[in-house]
Amino acid sequence: MTAAAERTQENATDVLAVARDQVLDRGVGLTRDQVLAVLRLGDERLEDLLALAHEVRMKWCGPEVEVEGIISLKTGGCPEDCHFCSQSGRFPTPVRSAWLDIPGLVAAAKQTAATGATEFCIVAAVRGPDARLMSQVRDGIKAIRDSGNDIQIACSLGMLTQEQVDELVAMGVHRYNHNLETARSHFPQVVTTHTWEERWDTLRMVREAGMEVCSGGILGMGETDEQRAEFAVQLAELDPHEVPMNFLIPQPGTPYEQYEPIEGRAALKLVAAFRLALPRTMLRFAGGRELTLGDLGAEQGMLGGINAIIVGNYLTNLGRPAQQDLDMLADLKMPIKALGDTL
Ligand code: SF4
Repeated sequence: MTAAAERTQENATDVLAVARDQVLDRGVGLTRDQVLAVLRLGDERLEDLLALAHEVRMKWCGPEVEVEGIISLKTGGCPEDCHFCSQSGRFPTPVRSAWLDIPGLVAAAKQTAATGATEFCIVAAVRGPDARLMSQVRDGIKAIRDSGNDIQIACSLGMLTQEQVDELVAMGVHRYNHNLETARSHFPQVVTTHTWEERWDTLRMVREAGMEVCSGGILGMGETDEQRAEFAVQLAELDPHEVPMNFLIPQPGTPYEQYEPIEGRAALKLVAAFRLALPRTMLRFAGGRELTLGDLGAEQGMLGGINAIIVGNYLTNLGRPAQQDLDMLADLKMPIKALGDTL
C-alpha cells in the first residue's frame, strides 16, 4: 500500500478526521457511535479534539459568547426527587425553602444587565408552576420592564401545561429552560417522581409555541460513556437553541453526595464531544466547571467548543466573580453577544 493510501485508510477510521469532514465542513453532527469514539480517544488526542471543536464552534456559531445571569425566584422545598439536587425537599440538605420578592428580582436583573449579559433567567425549584408562581413571574417581568431594563428574559419553572406555555409567551418570555438532565436510559436512576418523557413533552410544547428551547443536563451522575453519547444525540434530536452543560457538584445530603467530580480532561472531552454532536447549538458552561476544570480549564473549554457562559452565582453554589469571566473573554478576544443579536 502506498503512503497516501495508508493515510486515506487511517483517516477513514480516525474519528477526528471523519468529524473534520462531516461536522466542520458539512455541519452534520456526530452519531452516537462517533461521539462514543471521541469520548474514548486517548488523552494524547485531547489537544487536537479541542482544536477541532473550537473550529466547529467558530465556523457554525461564530466568535460571540452569550452571557447570562440566573436568579432563583423560589428556592428549595421541591417535591421531586432528582438525586443530584439540593433543592429537593426529600433530602436532608442545608437548602431551605425561600422566595425572592419583586424588588429583589428587579435588582438582580439590573445587576445582570450591568455585566453586559443579554439574558436573565428566572428559576424556581418546583415540579411545575402553580397560580402563585405564575403571578409572581408575571409581576416580576412587568417590574423589570417598568424599570427600563430590556434584557431578554428566560424562565425555568419545571414542567408546564399548554395553558402555562401560552401564558409565558404572552408575558414575553423568549426562552424556556427545562433540562432533560441525562440520557433517557439513565433517567430512572436519577429521578423517580417524573419521567424523561414528561420533560420532553414540555419541551415540545415550548418549541411549538415559538419560545426558544434551552435544555441540557448534568454529567457525572453515574452514567456510562455510552449513555453520555446517547444523551448528546438525544439532545441533537431535540435540536435546542441552547444546551447548558453542568458537571455534578456533589451536594451534601443528596444521594449523590459521595460521587467523585468528573476529572478535568474527561470534562473537556465531553465539552468537545457535545460540540461535535451539536455544531450549531449554543453550548453553555453552567454549574460545576470551577470544580472540575478550575480557572485554566474554563479557558480551555472556551477554546474547545463552548460559546456561552453563566456569570456570577449558580442557584445554590457560588461561581467565581462575574468580572473574572468577563476578563477571560476579553483576554481570549471573544466578543460578548450584544442584545438583539442572533447567533
Ligand atoms: S424538579 Fe428541579 S428543583 Fe425539583 S428536585 Fe428536580 S432538579 Fe431540583
